[in-house]
Amino acid sequence: MNIRHSVLKAIDGVKLVKDNQPKKVSKYFGINTFSHDEMVKRVSKKTMESFALWLNEGKTISAKEADEIADAMKNWATDKGATFYAHWFQPMTGLTAEKHDTFCSLKNGKMMEKFSGSKLILGEPDASSFPSGGIRSTFEARGYTAWDPSSPAFLIESELGKTLCIPCIFVSYHGYALDKKLPLLKSDEAISRAAVNFLKLFKNKNVKKVVSTCGPEQEYFLIDKHYYKLRQDLALTGRTLIGAPSPKGQQLEDQYFGSIKERAMNFMYEVCEEAYKVGIPVSTRHNEVAPHQYEFAPIFEESNLAADHNQMLMEIMRKVALRHDLVCLLHEKPFAGINGSGKHLNWSMADDQGNNLLNPGQTPQENLQFLAVLVAILHAVYHHSDLLRASIAFAGNEHRLGANEAPPAIVSVFLGEQLTQILDTIEKGAKQKVSKQDIIDLGVGKLPKVNKDATDRNRTSPFAFTGAKFEFRALGSSQNISTPIMILNTVIANSLAYVTGQIEKLAKTKDFETAVMTVVTNLVKDTKKIRFEGNNYAAEWVTEAEKRGLPNIAATFEALKALLKKDNIAIFERQGVLSKDEMISRYHIWVEMYNTILTIEANTLMEMVNANVVPAGFNYLSHLAKILGQLTDLKEKGSLAADDGAFTDLQSHLTEITNKIYYVRKNTLAMGKLLEKAKGLDGEDRAELYFEELKPLMEHIRKHCDDLETVIADEHWDLPKYREMLFIM
Ligand code: ADP
Ligand code: MG
Repeated sequence: MNIRHSVLKAIDGVKLVKDNQPKKVSKYFGINTFSHDEMVKRVSKKTMESFALWLNEGKTISAKEADEIADAMKNWATDKGATFYAHWFQPMTGLTAEKHDTFCSLKNGKMMEKFSGSKLILGEPDASSFPSGGIRSTFEARGYTAWDPSSPAFLIESELGKTLCIPCIFVSYHGYALDKKLPLLKSDEAISRAAVNFLKLFKNKNVKKVVSTCGPEQEYFLIDKHYYKLRQDLALTGRTLIGAPSPKGQQLEDQYFGSIKERAMNFMYEVCEEAYKVGIPVSTRHNEVAPHQYEFAPIFEESNLAADHNQMLMEIMRKVALRHDLVCLLHEKPFAGINGSGKHLNWSMADDQGNNLLNPGQTPQENLQFLAVLVAILHAVYHHSDLLRASIAFAGNEHRLGANEAPPAIVSVFLGEQLTQILDTIEKGAKQKVSKQDIIDLGVGKLPKVNKDATDRNRTSPFAFTGAKFEFRALGSSQNISTPIMILNTVIANSLAYVTGQIEKLAKTKDFETAVMTVVTNLVKDTKKIRFEGNNYAAEWVTEAEKRGLPNIAATFEALKALLKKDNIAIFERQGVLSKDEMISRYHIWVEMYNTILTIEANTLMEMVNANVVPAGFNYLSHLAKILGQLTDLKEKGSLAADDGAFTDLQSHLTEITNKIYYVRKNTLAMGKLLEKAKGLDGEDRAELYFEELKPLMEHIRKHCDDLETVIADEHWDLPKYREMLFIM
C-alpha cells in the first residue's frame, strides 16, 4: 500500500463531527461582540453621548471617557473568560494581523486585570515586518494601530482560551495608511460628502450621512485534510501546481445547488454558528458549479463592517474546516480545468434615513434621482475601469480573469433589458423641456417589479446591475474586499461630484428636471461603450471590446500601473483617500507580492518534480525495464512465444516514459536558470519575466507531469489525484 492508498483508507475512517443541538439564532447572535447594547449597559450615559459624537461627527473623546470604555470592554471580555486582548488590523498583504497583549497587570505584587483607554485606542506593534512599499523608511520603523470604534470588538475563541479582538487601523508615525482599513474608511467619507451634496440638489436636505453598503458572496472548496497534507503545493501555495484532470469534472453540472454532502453540511452548520456568535449575518449557503465547491453569502452591511466580517468569516471557515478533518481552500484557482473561486461584491449606497440610492423609486423625483446616480456610476466605471481592474489584480486572480469562466479582464457594465431600453430612449430623445410625465413615461418606476428576474440572467458580466445594487463579480475568493470597495467608492464619489457640478451649472439657466435630464442624456451617450449585455466569455467580445477601445489587461503588473497614473493619483488626493506616496507604495507592495508568490510557486514545483514526479517515473521505469528483461529471457529460452509487436510495444512504452521524464527534467532545469536570472531583477522587470516566461514554462512542466501521472502505475504515484480530492470525501 503506498502512502496515497493509506490516505484513502484513513478518509474512510473519518467520523462525522456530531453537530450540537441546533440553537435559535436570535438567542445568541452577536453574543461574542461588544455591541452597542452591551456598551450601553456598562458605560455612563454621558460617555455614550461623547462616543456617539465621535462616531458620527468625528469629535474625539476625552482620556477619561476612553478609560471608562476600556474598562467596560475589559470587564465584559474577562467575564466571558478572555485573558488576552489584541489589536486586530489588516496590513497591505490582505491578511489580518494581531498583536496580543495580556490584561494582567501587577500592582504591589498582586495580579489584577487592567486595560486603559490609551491601550484601547493606540497600540504599537512592531511594524518593521509589515510591507510599507517604501513609505516607512528604516529610521522610522514604527507603526501604530488605532481603534476603529465603528466596528465592534469581538472575542476569538480557541479551545483553551479567548482573546478580545479590537478592530484597528494601522498607520505610520507620520500618519500614512499602512493598511487596508483606513483608506476604506476615508473612501466612505468621500462617498458621504459627494452623495450628501448630490442629494441636497434633489431636496433631500435631512440627509447628513451616506455610506456604501456591501454583501460579498464567498466561494470556496472543501477537501479532506489527509490529501492536503500530502500535497505541498496546496499547503505552500494554496493551489495544485500539477495534477491530471479527473475524467469526470464539472461537465455533468450535477453539483450546482445539489444536495450538500453531510460532511460539508456539518461544516456549514458550524461555520454559521461561529459566525453568528461574532455578529456576522450569514444568510445563504449552497453548492457551486465545481465538485466540492460551495458558497456563503451574508446579509449586506455597511462596507467597513462587511469587510471586517468577510475577513473574520474566511478565518472561521479555515478554522472550522480543520475541526471536521477538512481543509477550506480559498485560492482563486486551486484546481486546473474546473471553475475557480471568486467573490461577488454586491455594492450600493444608503443614506442615514435608510434609503438605498440605487432603488429606482416610485415617484418621478425618485426616478430622476436614480437615473442621475446610475449615470454617475457609469461615468465612474467607464472613465476609471483601469482602477477597477487594478483593484482585483493579484497573482491568484490572474488565473481566472480572461479564462473562460470568470469575468474577463475587460471591465464592462450589464444593465439588463429594461434599463437598457430606458437608456436607449433617453439617448434618442433629448428634450428641450422635461415634464414629470416624461419621466414617468420612461418606466423607471416599473423597474423594481421586473428587476429581480430580468437582470440576473447574465452571469458573465464583471459589473452587473442586479436590482437596487451593482455586483462587481471579478474579485478573487481569497481577496480582502477593502481595496476593491475603496477604489469603487473613490471613483464613484468623484463621478457623483462631477454630476452634481454639471447639474448645478445647468440648473442656473434651465428648470431642475430639464437640467438633470440633459446631464443624464449627455452621460448616457458619453459612457455607452462601457455597456455590454452579451456573453462576456465569448471570443467575439474580446474583438468587440478592442474596437470600442476598452482595455484588456491580462498581466497583474500591467493592471497595477493604474495606481501610478497622474490623473488617477489626482482623484485619490482630491477625494482625500490616498496620497501620491500611498498610491505609489501600494503599487510597489503589490508587484512585490506577485513576485514573491510566483517565486514560491516555482520553487515548490521544482521540489515536487524532483522529489515526487521524477522518482515516481524512475521507479516505474525500473519496474518496466525489469519486466522487459525477464520477458526477453523467457523468449530466448523459447518459453515465450509472444509476437515481436509485443516487445516493440513494451520498448516504446519505456521510451515514451523515459522521454517524458527527460522533458520534465529539461524544462525544470530551464526554470532553475530562469529563477537565477530573476534574482537580478526587481519589481516590474521581474514581474514581467515571470508573467511572460515563468508562467508558460510552469504550465509546460505541468503538462508533462500530468501526462506522466496518467501512465505511471497507480502504486508508484504518491500525490493525491484530482479524481480523489474532488470526489472522495
Ligand atoms: P443574487 O443577486 O446574487 O442572486 P441576492 O439577491 O441574494 O443574490 O444578493 C446577494 C448579496 O447581495 C447578498 O449578500 C445581499 O445581502 C447583497 N445585497 C442586497 N442588497 C444590497 C445592497 N443594497 N447593498 C449591498 N449589498 C446588497
Ligand atoms: Mg451574485
